Amino acid sequence: MYADRDVTAQLNARGDVAVVVPAAGAGVRLGPGAPKALRLLDGEPLLVHAVRRLAAAPSVRMIVVAAPPADVDAVHALLAPVAPVTVVPGGAERQESVAAALAVVPDEVAIVLVHDAARCLTPPSVVERVAAAVRSGADAVIPVLPVVDTIKEVAADDTVLGTVDRSVLRAVQTPQGFRASVLRAAHRAAADLHTDDAGAVEKLGRPVLCVPGSDLALKITRPIDLALATHLLALPDPDA
Ligand code: C5P
Repeated sequence: MYADRDVTAQLNARGDVAVVVPAAGAGVRLGPGAPKALRLLDGEPLLVHAVRRLAAAPSVRMIVVAAPPADVDAVHALLAPVAPVTVVPGGAERQESVAAALAVVPDEVAIVLVHDAARCLTPPSVVERVAAAVRSGADAVIPVLPVVDTIKEVAADDTVLGTVDRSVLRAVQTPQGFRASVLRAAHRAAADLHTDDAGAVEKLGRPVLCVPGSDLALKITRPIDLALATHLLALPDPDA
């Protein structure tokens, strides 16, 4: 049983960052099949790609994965050859999966990153950039990209209400980084469901800082994203 394992499996004693990886989603939008994090990309589960890149970031001391409850032991066996990880059962909502993983991060780890398993090609350089910004004093840090499409606000009857000024918009990725105490407070205070953890910190009235994200950090959600990711695998990290 997962509860009997070392709950603080350590990757790198010199690292100061814990990464929490929610990976318990069903992935319905990808079509029928295994839970999303266990779908294959170039013959390996998305979660393996994600953990390999996290483990390559020098700041990362420990990785905690929230897996589908039925797959906790299988996920631990899958990841053990990749990196020392702790695996806990996830919840019905992403937020519950993050909370379950956060609960086993020891208090002495001051920086926590939350990273979707679905953004499995995120390069270690983005992990380091987010961690560095928290280390430099930010309470909450998100990697972002500019929005390239024209964005319209549309009514329920499909008529356009207006065009949004895209220069002030950003598409938000993960890992999102936090001073651990701020993330814990945000989760305790969160009354509604949120789609990202920085959203809960915003509701606390705390500032959230943006740093550059990466095209490689795309979220694999639809079948076309898997096809795209297969090609991206061959690309080097442009920031490396
Ligand atoms: O569904 P969505 O793509 O927004 O999920 C984002 C991430 O949250 C995925 O890595 C997914 O596995 C995870 N998740 C989770 N527990 C849930 C739902 C989603 O860990 N109940």
